[in-house]
Amino acid sequence: MSAEEPLIADLFEVDKRLTLKPVVDFNSYLRNAFGDGPCRCHRCVEGAGDESSYSHRHTFEFDGRQTHRRFANTAGSDVLQVLKKAWLSYTKAELQLIGELDIAAVKGFTDTEQHPRLLVLLAASGLAREVDGRWHLVAQAD
Ligand SMILES: [Zn+2]
Repeated sequence: MSAEEPLIADLFEVDKRLTLKPVVDFNSYLRNAFGDGPCRCHRCVEGAGDESSYSHRHTFEFDGRQTHRRFANTAGSDVLQVLKKAWLSYTKAELQLIGELDIAAVKGFTDTEQHPRLLVLLAASGLAREVDGRWHLVAQAD
């Protein structure tokens, strides 16, 4: 019985960090970054949803349901702002804005069910690029 106690303490430690406000905000930001149904922007409507010429996709599928990225608040700089705050409160260190993004660390404070949205949003917002399974931050113009 006593051997289990440190494990339980560890779980509480993780839970506490996940309840930090910037971390909670980051997860709700990810949830709200996508709206129901395919993208209805002018370009998508004109092109009847053909995204083959796009550099970043507009319509995505999560759990078998089509969703679209909400452009108004998901520019790369928007994503960076919430990510920076969550990173700082969770890791107690400033996020390095250049070079490789420690995606495992980001996933550590991202709800498991939000992981697909996280990866999609990092790429679609232009904030980060995946090369051979590694994520690299792309410099953001303000
Ligand atoms: Zn669109």
